[in-house]
Amino acid sequence: MEDCIFCKIIAGEIPADIVYRDDEVIAFRDINPVAPTHLLIISKKHIPSLAHLPDAETPLIGSMVKIANQLAREEGIFESGYRLAISCGKQGGQVVPHLHMHLIGGRQLADALG
Ligand code: AMP
Ligand code: ZN
Repeated sequence: MEDCIFCKIIAGEIPADIVYRDDEVIAFRDINPVAPTHLLIISKKHIPSLAHLPDAETPLIGSMVKIANQLAREEGIFESGYRLAISCGKQGGQVVPHLHMHLIGGRQLADALG
């Protein structure tokens, strides 16, 4: 997908601190972290948002959660706790229109989500 910043990271056209990669997913550090650990787990396929996820591809979300749990262990936050978040659409706060999951932790997070 042209002009998609995350597709450019997948293609290696712009740099990122990539911490995980497999056939369907990559993960890298958020450029503007809100906590000591802030990783983005993204689909390699350009899917604009959760709302564009075909029913047949919902197992992808399970894969992303599995990888997030693994990365939480590697980041040393598995025991202390962490948050996974997927923003969807304008009012959902999504800025980059390429499906991604935030893994955030390493400090006490706020109770409120919105
Ligand atoms: P969202 O608001 O859920 O769409 O989140 C988009 C996230 O992507 C934000 O947390 C940004 O800081 C992050 N981001 C944007 N550009 C880059 C980049 N080039 N490398 C790493 N993270 C990025
Ligand atoms: Zn993309």
